[in-house]
Amino acid sequence: MAGVHDDAVAIAAELTRLRRAIHAEPEIGLDLPRTQRKVLDSLDGLPLEIRLGESLSSVTAVLRGALPGDTVLLRADMDALPVTERTGLPYASLVDGAMHACGHDLHTAMLAGAAKLLSARQRELAGNVVFMFQPGEEGPGGARIMIQEGMLDAAGEPPVAAYALHVVSGLLPFGLLASRAGTLMAAADTLHVTVHGRGGHGSQPQNAADPIPVACEIVLALQTMVTRRFDVFDPVVVTVGTFHAGTVDNVIPDDAQFVATVRSFSPAARAAVQAAAPRIATDIAAAHGLRATAEFRDGYPVTVNDGAELTFAEQTVADVLGDGRYITAPNPLTGSEDFSYVLEHVPGAFLMLGACAPDTDPFTAPFNHSAEACFDDAVLPDGTALYAELALRRLAGG
Ligand SMILES: [Zn+2]
Ligand SMILES: [Zn+2]
Repeated sequence: MAGVHDDAVAIAAELTRLRRAIHAEPEIGLDLPRTQRKVLDSLDGLPLEIRLGESLSSVTAVLRGALPGDTVLLRADMDALPVTERTGLPYASLVDGAMHACGHDLHTAMLAGAAKLLSARQRELAGNVVFMFQPGEEGPGGARIMIQEGMLDAAGEPPVAAYALHVVSGLLPFGLLASRAGTLMAAADTLHVTVHGRGGHGSQPQNAADPIPVACEIVLALQTMVTRRFDVFDPVVVTVGTFHAGTVDNVIPDDAQFVATVRSFSPAARAAVQAAAPRIATDIAAAHGLRATAEFRDGYPVTVNDGAELTFAEQTVADVLGDGRYITAPNPLTGSEDFSYVLEHVPGAFLMLGACAPDTDPFTAPFNHSAEACFDDAVLPDGTALYAELALRRLAGG
């Protein structure tokens, strides 16, 4: 039997067709019926146990190897973004206001390809592979819902390892993989603050309770909190992205509202900022005789790679794709990922894969989420082979 990578190269045209079909018809959020249909069609005839999501259009497929062994999970996300595509590609989105600007169309095609390659190796497979095709990565947390619906028990036992790839249209040169042990991506939560005052005439502030200066003081105090309460080597980022109060210059409004994104890079720093930030809001308001409500809304948790699983993945990259194809990211990324929910339960690794368009400089190419972000199909066989080999080798004992 030819090698897994040769087999992936042999189905490159099929992978490209699937990827482009998904790309042309992007769907957003948790309900992706057309994408789900394409995935099911591509898995048709393979020896898989397939389960569909109940409250979302996920696909969980289990391949049972002929030999006994553990269970490994491979994940791809399938959702697009509310962006109007401006790439000018021949297979560009046909749906106004929706675009696969984060490359999830490539992940989906790669994982479907890996399911095919591994199915052909069912007799040599020592254990089970769970293929996790998830909707709703870009916000609604599809991975968490799949876990709630029992995805981690799909094979009848929990996976011992979980892997995911993510393409990038810039930053990394084409074909290069990057990751790091420990924290790879941030937790991204939001802090919603309302300062409740009492409106009145702008010329008589003493007869009102002006929420605007109090809200401004809270915004500044949050930045002081960042520098005085947190270790610079385990940082947090607080950015107030919206701030709304009032209508005209001579009316003191009843209240002022702002929302901040709060990024953290360890569960400890996340817990600390979740406790400290609301208290700053409520207590500064109280100091001025006003009241503030501050609500922390959880986003995705910190993405933490298991050290041993990352070392294994790095070795697999070298074995399958050759030396020089992996670099260690010097710092975590400030973006966030809902594969974090899987990694909270299963040790694993998340790897970035450079997929910038030919003849572009990765350092200036439009990045993921841009209306001009381009991802090169040529990366599909490598990603497919890597998914398949991660499962095959991990089940064979590393
Ligand atoms: Zn994204
Ligand atoms: Zn993404």
